[in-house]
Amino acid sequence: MDKKKIIKLAKKDFERAWVESGNLVKKSHPDKEYPRLKYEIGKSHILNDTIAMLREAYLRLGFSEAVNPLFIDKNDVYKQFGPEAPAVLDRCFYLAGLPRPDIGIGVDKINYIKKLGKDINDEKIAKLQEVFRGYKKGYLDGDDLVLKVSEALEIDNEEGLSILEKVFPEIKDLMPIASNTTLRSHMTSGWFISLEKMVKKSKTPLKMFSIDRCFRREQKEDSSHLMTYHSASCVIVDDEVTLDMGKAISEALLEYFGFSKFKFVPDEKKSKYYIPETQTEVYGYHPKLNEWVEIATFGLYSPIALSKYGIEKEVMNLGLGVERIAMVLNQINDVRNLVYPQLYQKLELNDRDIATMLNYNYYPVTEEGQSLMENILNVWTSEKDCNSPCEFTIFEGEFLNKEISVKAFEGENNAKLLGPASTNHVYIYDGNILGIPENIEVSIKKVELNPQEYNEKDIINEIPDDTKIIYDAVKNGVPTNIRYIDALSAKTAYKIEEAVLSRSEDLIFRNTIARALSDVNLKLDTIAMNYINNENKLIDIRGPIFSTIKLEIK
Ligand code: ATP
Repeated sequence: MDKKKIIKLAKKDFERAWVESGNLVKKSHPDKEYPRLKYEIGKSHILNDTIAMLREAYLRLGFSEAVNPLFIDKNDVYKQFGPEAPAVLDRCFYLAGLPRPDIGIGVDKINYIKKLGKDINDEKIAKLQEVFRGYKKGYLDGDDLVLKVSEALEIDNEEGLSILEKVFPEIKDLMPIASNTTLRSHMTSGWFISLEKMVKKSKTPLKMFSIDRCFRREQKEDSSHLMTYHSASCVIVDDEVTLDMGKAISEALLEYFGFSKFKFVPDEKKSKYYIPETQTEVYGYHPKLNEWVEIATFGLYSPIALSKYGIEKEVMNLGLGVERIAMVLNQINDVRNLVYPQLYQKLELNDRDIATMLNYNYYPVTEEGQSLMENILNVWTSEKDCNSPCEFTIFEGEFLNKEISVKAFEGENNAKLLGPASTNHVYIYDGNILGIPENIEVSIKKVELNPQEYNEKDIINEIPDDTKIIYDAVKNGVPTNIRYIDALSAKTAYKIEEAVLSRSEDLIFRNTIARALSDVNLKLDTIAMNYINNENKLIDIRGPIFSTIKLEIK
């Protein structure tokens, strides 16, 4: 009965309609069933989580947020770092750009354009000259050049691009030229530029923080250095500031992350933008880590560097590397794994993940095929242990507009309708895929449910020595809810659909010994297959799955 009829019936006989409505629940495709079906919770990035916590901590401590300049002129680095500037600049990226060439339109170029079959006259040449002049002067962006050249020559964009490439190769051959602008390597470089303006506009004390990217031209990236990292930095600006402020702020900030004790050690590194002897390293003790780790640095900005920006106030600065604190808190010992797990981290799949990647290979497409699959499964399940020779009719009648008959049979003497492994249940356990015999599975579950009544040792003794793993698999693994006959009945029904639609002759479908997943109509996603191979895990689907289906098309 369909939905409309049930709704109508409900007005007359609610109880019957309600019971009928139970039949509306459709059986879904096995690949869409649990445990293959899985909804993941989205994962945030550890780095951004740490940034969020640091922002929260600074805000709670009464700091206001700033975004500092990222592009720093080389002269600012000299103003801040003094004689240390060359060493700092060595670790900076300089920005470079392509020069804007003077493009002349000589006779040779005009002839080349003509040779390429394009119409050209004085008016078009004048327009083209105007376009190149605008490009040279910077009125015209490089990415608009193709469009404007095409418009000047009254041709379409593809032709314009081809003319630019062939007739004006000087554009393609340009080499970048470096400027004096660098990418910020320390947040301090940004603070000096911001504070120069802020001290003139804001009342002191000023408490500001900024968490943002810095760039370092490291010789190579390694387990503790990336070319770009995040600095979480703050400043306190007042008529008078002390080192004690640095101690108290780092304590308050780091307590938020679970650090409980602190040590303040004069830094061996003596940056010239700090007053001598004020540069201090903060070591924190975290009970979870049970060790002391270097976590932040603070100091008082040098009056010499401040004077270059006309700042007469005193400034305490504290900073820490976000990636480093995230590594410490999450106990990740390689910054590359932390920041770019998609590039560096080894693939880790748990049993639940693998269960989502094991799917049916063939599955009937039509509703008639799906109902035939159910019939095959019912006959196989009820008659599997019948002594052979034996034969059972599964279906007789119209199927996809043909009269057919489908039978399960076994012609050999002294066997059963189905081979003994046919009802094995596929489990995923510890990265292995295992077909577990029904009787063993049932016994293990019996012990689990009734430990007083059954003895675990007896059951273990029943299991062959080399397959003890299946005991743990049933207890702790993920059952896929697929038995070999579930998947094989789907394949047989699909093959019958295919045979009937392609007008084949009568056919016999036979399964014999299972060796691989494909023998039981299963396929594993390549990601899981590679994982199982790399981790030396096992796919053990072996077993006799003798079964024969005969199709007659009348
Ligand atoms: P290192 O000695 O580790 O190369 P540094 O002493 O040169 O670092 P500072 O200039 O003091 O670093 O920078 C302050 C903090 O910024 C460092 O303690 C670290 O947490 C972080 N940091 C610096 N460079 C990098 C980088 N390339 N990758 C990740 N973090 C970095």
